[in-house]
Amino acid sequence: MIPGLQAISLLELKVLAAPRHWSVEGHLDEIPSLTPLRGNISAEHQSNILEVKGKINTIVTHCCDRCLGEFNQSLSLNTEEQIWLGVRDCQAAEPNNSNQLDQIDALMECLDPHGSFDPERWIFEQLSLQMPLVKRCGADCPGPPQPSTEKSGTQHQQPDIDPRWAALRKLSSS
Ligand SMILES: [Zn+2]
Repeated sequence: MIPGLQAISLLELKVLAAPRHWSVEGHLDEIPSLTPLRGNISAEHQSNILEVKGKINTIVTHCCDRCLGEFNQSLSLNTEEQIWLGVRDCQAAEPNNSNQLDQIDALMECLDPHGSFDPERWIFEQLSLQMPLVKRCGADCPGPPQPSTEKSGTQHQQPDIDPRWAALRKLSSS
């Protein structure tokens, strides 16, 4: 939980008629980081669009998928996103509105205009997008840890048999 980053209702943002700024300093529960997330984020209500801008830096510690060693990665976020305020309903739209639809389609997210915007959630989602799918500590990765003995570490591999095939097998062997 980052102090000061409470969700704000979109109606409140609309009344504000100016960008709302938050300064960011703290840790996210979902993304443990070595250094606190630092930066700033702003959100501006623009009739049917919410424009969100964020600049955040942090260093996260990953566990290498290969050698299981820990390594650090610096993440920096410098993102602008436009969030559609409304309910997307493509089927109800007339064909001559296709231009507008394309525009809406290009916008990744949509929010209920009577709902709220959660800056912490937004930061979490943006940082999650930057997380590597495969975590490798680097070119000097020593590779998988060697099991100390032959038996420990290597699991006896059970062939993966569909239960229906198992039943067939039983029939054919009887
Ligand atoms: Zn490694």
